[in-house]
Amino acid sequence: EIVSGETTGKEEAAIELTLRPQTLADYIGQTKIKHELSVYIKAAKEREEALDHVLLYGPPGLGKTTLAMVIANELGVNIKTTSGPAIEKPGDLVALLNELKPGDVLFIDEIHRLPKMVEEMLYSAMEDYYIDIVIGEGPTAHPVHFPLPPFTLIGATTRAGMLSAPLRDRFGIVEHMNYYNQDELTKIIFRSAKIFQTKIEDEGAHELALRSRGTPRIANRLLKRVRDFAQVAGKGSIDSVSVQRALKLLQVDDQGLDEIDRKLLLTMINYYNGGPVGLKTIAANIGEEKSTIEEMYEPYLLQIGYLTRTARGRMVTAAAYKHLGLEYPTK
Ligand code: ATP
Repeated sequence: EIVSGETTGKEEAAIELTLRPQTLADYIGQTKIKHELSVYIKAAKEREEALDHVLLYGPPGLGKTTLAMVIANELGVNIKTTSGPAIEKPGDLVALLNELKPGDVLFIDEIHRLPKMVEEMLYSAMEDYYIDIVIGEGPTAHPVHFPLPPFTLIGATTRAGMLSAPLRDRFGIVEHMNYYNQDELTKIIFRSAKIFQTKIEDEGAHELALRSRGTPRIANRLLKRVRDFAQVAGKGSIDSVSVQRALKLLQVDDQGLDEIDRKLLLTMINYYNGGPVGLKTIAANIGEEKSTIEEMYEPYLLQIGYLTRTARGRMVTAAAYKHLGLEYPTK
């Protein structure tokens, strides 16, 4: 018996789309955010107004894009999605805003990476629904006042602190996305397995949830890989042994740490006696970008208490030493 059939690239893309929950009710976890949003959405609909601008921040892969789509769907409006680096010049923003109908959502991922000129143009667009642009060059240049329909901007970023204060202040609704707990991740894994038409046993799903770093995107990615291993091993359903075997090959340990997490901790331990050590030094030593460490690796290590941040730099905790099977030095 095979766990899943062969799928083509097209089918994979379709599955990817169906993986995304469409409604707040289907969106697992983030209970506080969902509750608040449901109130704001209902109120905006009753008043027939655009929803206030929403800023979603938190580590990558927690479902910010998915939530933006859910919000648009619940509002019953269209959504245009783009990202900060994709809007290179003011004209690109004008083109996007020009396509919006009253109440529509404009989603800008990585909003902290907007060019300054574009960001400044957003201020009046967000606050009073207009933009002033200059058309032409030299003596023929003239300003044009361009009114916009009321719309909702949803911005996503990995850290709210990376946004300039004037931009941050223009978001009426600011939500911090949290890592998912084991229960929520298990639910997401069961939901995804059903969409993949893959059988997974309770312990298999729990084991996978434990190793997914509190992140749905990682849970789904690992599920796909484990499904491949189970299929090739001729297993009818994914149990905890298949998960353990597959993740061993993928070098994901029982806390969900991967090679880079371990390299980061071990570098700090072996060369800096566990810290304190600055982020720049760690980045240079392990050959990763400082921002990658700060946005992708460090938040989870901080969350599970393997790293602490002090004024003098990052430090490896006793719990991390224990996890790595090392003795904690008496300093
Ligand atoms: P980021 O937060 O970096 O924007 P993202 O929003 O792009 O991450 P998604 O791609 O939206 O992350 O989510 C990753 C995958 O996890 C999606 O395919 C989606 O199906 C799934 N997912 C995310 N959040 C949830 C959730 N709360 N409930 C169910 N599935 C989820």
